[in-house]
Amino acid sequence: MQRRTWGDCLPKNIIEIKGLRKVYHVGSERVVALNHITLDIAEGEFCCLLGTSGSGKSTLLNLLAGLEKPSLGSVRIKGQQIEKMNEKQLVKFRQQNIGFIFQSYNLLPTLTALENVALPLAFRSIPKRQREAMAKDILERVGLGQHLAHRPTQMSGGQQQRVGIARALVSKPPIVFADEPTGNLDSKTTREVMEIMTELTEQNRQTLVLVTHDMSIASFAHRIIHISDGNIVKIVLNRKRSG
Ligand code: ADP
Ligand code: MG
Repeated sequence: MQRRTWGDCLPKNIIEIKGLRKVYHVGSERVVALNHITLDIAEGEFCCLLGTSGSGKSTLLNLLAGLEKPSLGSVRIKGQQIEKMNEKQLVKFRQQNIGFIFQSYNLLPTLTALENVALPLAFRSIPKRQREAMAKDILERVGLGQHLAHRPTQMSGGQQQRVGIARALVSKPPIVFADEPTGNLDSKTTREVMEIMTELTEQNRQTLVLVTHDMSIASFAHRIIHISDGNIVKIVLNRKRSG
């Protein structure tokens, strides 16, 4: 398959981050999790936020998704100001625009692979048969067509994460956030999971924002944003992928 390059991404910015700052207060202590982040992310881009543990990566994703409010600054996604939305608006915005992939998979243990993937569609008033057909289709595309009836405990870590990817992508959200998605996987499985995630988001022209401390993963991205102590310290275009 011809790989999408960064040059192919639409010049339009889908995410605009301006002067973002987040300070936590713990007792009498102040923790500056994000100092001052300004960054635009293009539609269709695969953008990797790379930094060591504690550098502020998860905080940044949480602010982008509106799960926390910034101390200062703004996040605009598809032209809408996230930090100004109320909880109800945010829930709707996330349902329509954002898919999440977590390090710990976050699958519901009592549900099968098919049921876990079909679940987010239940909030979109799609009939059950259609939900199951969509879930089956995406599970086949991540190579789990033979595992539809398996529960999380009956699958390997790599298989569980492929279910997690299928669940995030089944409703084709324009934006996908992944927080250390391969953090619990060995290096061979990491590669497989990264290949699947890259390929599927490319096919749908989705914007992928992935945070990791693992340099080897960063090579899949179009652009690598190095984060240290809550600041962007370097931005590197991946020449192999930036066209
Ligand atoms: P990363 O994901 O890069 O490992 P985080 O964004 O989780 O980093 O954390 C950045 C910094 O903010 C760390 O020093 C962390 O301890 C602190 N931090 C994160 N969340 C909270 C919180 N809810 N309360 C207090 N401090 C926090
Ligand atoms: Mg983190």
